[in-house]
Amino acid sequence: MHKYLFLLTALSVLALATACDHGSSSKNQGKLGYDCLPDGTCDDPWTCVQGICRNVSTNNVNNDIVDVIDVIDDVDGDANNQTPVCGNGVMEAGEACDGTDFGTATCVSLGFEGGTLSCSAGCLQILTYQCSTGQGSTATPPAEIVSTGTGGLLLRGTVLTPAGVLNPGEVLVINEYITCVAASCATEAGASTATVIETHGIISAGLIDAHNHQSYNFFPEWAPDPPQLFGNRYEWADNTQYEEFILPYSKHRSSNTHFCPGSKWAELRCMAHGTTTMQGQPSASGSCINWGVRNADGYHNCGYDHMTGTIASVRDIDDAMAATYMGYFTQAVEPITRFHVHMAEGISGNYITDEFDSFAGRDPRANRHAGTSLLYNGTSVLIHSVPLTESQLQEVLSTNSKIVWSPSSNMVLYGVTAPIQRILQLGITVSLAPDWTLSGEDDMLAEMRFARNYGVTQGIPELTSQKIWEMSTWMAAEVVGLQVHVGRLEAGYKADIAVFGRTGTNPYDALIDSTATDVRLVLINGVGFYGDTYLQAATARNDYCENLDGCGVNKYLCTQDSPDGINRTNETYADIHTQLYNILEGIGYPADEQYGRGDELLPLFTCQ
Ligand SMILES: [Zn+2]
Repeated sequence: MHKYLFLLTALSVLALATACDHGSSSKNQGKLGYDCLPDGTCDDPWTCVQGICRNVSTNNVNNDIVDVIDVIDDVDGDANNQTPVCGNGVMEAGEACDGTDFGTATCVSLGFEGGTLSCSAGCLQILTYQCSTGQGSTATPPAEIVSTGTGGLLLRGTVLTPAGVLNPGEVLVINEYITCVAASCATEAGASTATVIETHGIISAGLIDAHNHQSYNFFPEWAPDPPQLFGNRYEWADNTQYEEFILPYSKHRSSNTHFCPGSKWAELRCMAHGTTTMQGQPSASGSCINWGVRNADGYHNCGYDHMTGTIASVRDIDDAMAATYMGYFTQAVEPITRFHVHMAEGISGNYITDEFDSFAGRDPRANRHAGTSLLYNGTSVLIHSVPLTESQLQEVLSTNSKIVWSPSSNMVLYGVTAPIQRILQLGITVSLAPDWTLSGEDDMLAEMRFARNYGVTQGIPELTSQKIWEMSTWMAAEVVGLQVHVGRLEAGYKADIAVFGRTGTNPYDALIDSTATDVRLVLINGVGFYGDTYLQAATARNDYCENLDGCGVNKYLCTQDSPDGINRTNETYADIHTQLYNILEGIGYPADEQYGRGDELLPLFTCQ
């Protein structure tokens, strides 16, 4: 599900929550996401709404806030406290939308050029991912195979590099490496014998998803009933509805019967959306992976496994654990260079705002590595970092720590996200990632659209389409520690490449506008895993790739390594689909696992 939690939606939820504890200490009063100052105002540029400091853009979102508050007032008055019914197609008090009923809201009224609105599953979010920003982009004619060679690929099109756009440009791929990126690669070794493809599209480094929870990504969006916002990640994780929602997986999450198809499904979804590297594969359990997209945590085929992390609260890291981590960072041979943690995911409660200082060695409690900062020498990958203060952001910068920004998941769960404008102003290395399908967008392209729309509605000029692309390619490679291998189109880099069949005045916008339908070709390690069927013979990694309908466009998808493969590498797309369907439905499982939810399986891609 695509989701866009608009400010007005967050406000409606906050207003309905009668006992919402924001837990602000007075030193944070007036700051984004915290209580307003005693005089009812907030620090510039935030706005006090319903007692909380919010980021209210200068466009007409302001007016919509008033509308929503008026609607909420009606709940107490006219509507006799009736509970709104989500799904009846009528927007009632307390709902932001229902079906196709958006009240008076349109893409244009919300600040976009045009397009279509849709409504979230919980009726609390107006989804704007199909709104256009006015940049405009269109699908291009199909790619053409100019000549068929004996080895290598020469791709022609609009080439995006960290140094700028080459239009026209060429990318030469020999074996698993990029050997040339230039206006013309004709004189390079191997060019004369390569298969030449005029892509008529945009050629980019494959997208990098720097944070996800891979094996869960066959679930659709989870929405609490009644809808609510949470203070932090520990709150929803304890929610009984959430626990019930993920039970078909969590009951067996360490078993390959569930872990393997879940992880594989996530990788297939990556390929179909132009993503070639993903973080979020639990360590170990590797017998069924190491065959699709690169897993940043391991199995990336780019040297030793350089990354570790913890999913637990950083406030639970004790002296011994900290010493162990520091040992990893400083060992002479194969040191750990990236340590990912969920940092301050939320805005209030559960000591969420104490997490950063604890991690930095300033936790006053005993046995919490006081004096030893784990923000060590650029290793830290701080996922979320929602309520970080100015001085904390300065410390992120000075320690060369990295941040992963997950705006869609943050907004859906907490109604507030990290201070991305300040993060970008400071020049902190930051990547964009959807978190997972349960609360975030379903793929990197959708998350990029969310980020772009967030920048438009919040008035953040730093959040350009080019910056969003950088945060999804070479900056994301820095975040996951694979920056010398992937993330940019440059000679010597691994040939992880995505081609998008769109064009527009701004190629970054055209790329961000792309859906799975527009993803024309995805190469990993120089061979095709996904693409238009007419490119299959020239690019596919093996003879076992399958064909499927990609929302009206014939696509090839390479799931199976070999029919004789071991450790599940013989599985087809249909095999994996069936396993997940059966898990959700209960087919082949005992009586207490008859969930009957097979139809909830998140499809490979959503046709719009
Ligand atoms: Zn996460």
